[in-house]
Parts: sequence; C-alpha cells; structure tokens
Amino acid sequence: MSRKVFRTVFLLICAVHLSCMAGEQALRDIPSDRIHEVRIIRILDPRLPRLSDSEFNDMLRHLQAYIKEYLGYDARFTRVPDIDLLRFRQDMAFIENLDDMKVLKQGLLDITTDTDRRRLRDYIRTLVHRTDKKILASYVPDYAAHKDPRRLAEHLYTRYVAKLQAIQGIRTADGTALHSSAYKDTLTYPFWEMALRHLQKADFVFTNTIMADAETDIPIYVVLRYGITTGMVTGNNHTSYKGAGIMFTFPFLSQDKFFVKERKEQIPGAEKARVIALYSTHEFGHLLNHFKDYYDHRNCIMVPANDLNYYRWYRERRECRCTLTHEKLQSF
Ligand SMILES: [Zn+2]
Ligand SMILES: [Zn+2]
Repeated sequence: MSRKVFRTVFLLICAVHLSCMAGEQALRDIPSDRIHEVRIIRILDPRLPRLSDSEFNDMLRHLQAYIKEYLGYDARFTRVPDIDLLRFRQDMAFIENLDDMKVLKQGLLDITTDTDRRRLRDYIRTLVHRTDKKILASYVPDYAAHKDPRRLAEHLYTRYVAKLQAIQGIRTADGTALHSSAYKDTLTYPFWEMALRHLQKADFVFTNTIMADAETDIPIYVVLRYGITTGMVTGNNHTSYKGAGIMFTFPFLSQDKFFVKERKEQIPGAEKARVIALYSTHEFGHLLNHFKDYYDHRNCIMVPANDLNYYRWYRERRECRCTLTHEKLQSF
C-alpha cells in the first residue's frame, strides 16, 4: 500500500504543468539488466516484538527471490546497523521544523479531542459521498447493511475511532501504552513521510512499530483499516532510486488480542518471514518498477490488502500471478 501514491495520483493530475515549470524530472526507468544494491536499515522499538536476526535474514532471502520473480529485478541487500526508534527520532529531529512537516501536520487529527473527531467524521462523510458505489460495495465488508451513504459514513467513523483507540492503547512489553508520549509521533504519517524523504543512510526501512493515525486526506481503504498503513514509498533525493520505502511489521507480529482477531487467520510461524517478504515486494514494486496501486486486479502484487488478513493476501498472490498491464508513476 502506499497512501503517498494515492495522493500523488491526484497531485499529478493538478500539477503536471506546474512540475514542467519547476523543471522537475519524471522518474527514470530503473534498468533490470544489472544488480541493484539496496541499503536496508532496521529501526526498532524495544517494547515491541520483532523478527529474530535469523528470521530477518530469512525474510530478506525470500524478498530477494520474490523481487526477481514478481518484479524482474536483481536486488542485493546491504545492512546498515540497526537503530533504536527513539534514537532515530532524535537524529531526525530537524524534520520537525521543516515547512513540509507543518503542512502534513495540518491533516493529522487527535481523536481524543472533540474538534478533531468532528473533522474526521466530516471527512469520512465527504469521502463516502465521492467514492464510486462499486468500489464501496467491493471494499466495505458489510456494505449491504449500510447502503445509505450517511449511515455508512457514520458506521465507518465510529468503527475507526474505536479501533484506533484500541490500537493506541495496546500494552507493550515494558507496561507502557503503544502511543505513550515518547513514541506518539512515531505512529504517524507526517513523521514517517518526512523521515523517509530525508533519510540518507538507507533506501528501505523495516520497523517493528506501526503507522496508525487519524487524518484527513486518506483513501477509503485506509479508513477501512482504521488508519493503519502497512508500508509506503515516497520521494527521496538522496537515494539512487529517488525514493525510499518502509515496512511496518507490528500488524504481522503483534500477539495482542486486537491483532490476533483482526488478522482473522493466524500466520503459521514457518511462513511469517515469507508473508512479510511478499508484502514488502509490493512496496518494492513502487520503488523499483514505479508501479502504482491497483484495486481491481486479481492475484496482483500491486493490490494492497484491504484488511489485516495478510495470510490470505499472501496465499492469493502465491496461487497465481497477475498478467494485466501495470502503469508507471511519474513521481512518488
Ligand atoms: Zn502500494
Ligand atoms: Zn495487476
């Protein structure tokens, strides 16, 4: 998934002539006849479960094979030393003062306040209103019970707030809540969007935390997943790919009852590394192939999961492959 990509599609439509004026260059195709070195960093929240070193190395081996199989690229990974999440946040403290951060934070909502809950409710109403009924019918699991747009919006809003609150309140290994004050920012889109844009020492991040927040300007499938983002890719002028990506592994690894229930199917221990590797391949489809997200392709690596049943998503993509054409993004 990439909510960034969703935004980009809309921004592109409005900004094609602007980008010409500004001299911005479209993404150049990455040649597939050579080996591409990808620098990988792990950013770790010590309170949360993570893949062991051997599981992580296994995952990278599967990822390398999947990137070749699904995307046609030969990737070689080099590891940058792991970093503690709070240390990383401290190193990236400068992003807080950048103008782009201020813009992104305007859309970030604090669901503990009445004002922001109202903004979220209004946003979801508008979003439901402007989303094609066919997309709603195929994406909203209990759509038949909520066909009236106003009732559907109310249902999605109520569920969003309740489930996001449940996620934020999850107890971690040291007894603190997932969104305790030191870590609050590290669960949000503005933090990771800006951190990825300004990351210099790696091209791709694996972090064992989660991105789960409330915002205006999110696509319908993020509303359906109560603000959870599994992974994303965004522009970065420091990397040779002109972009950087991230995967959040908490939704795959958390044994909290909330996630056990939301995943519906247990991911068998022996397949955990493969499931994470295949979902990461989706993000590499953005980073290397510049593919956009699709919603109506069957068994397609470029269709993001519409719920947290990652094991089903994985099985469907291992069963067979999508043979349809995939358009390329002009920018991340
Ligand atoms: Zn995506
Ligand atoms: Zn496809």
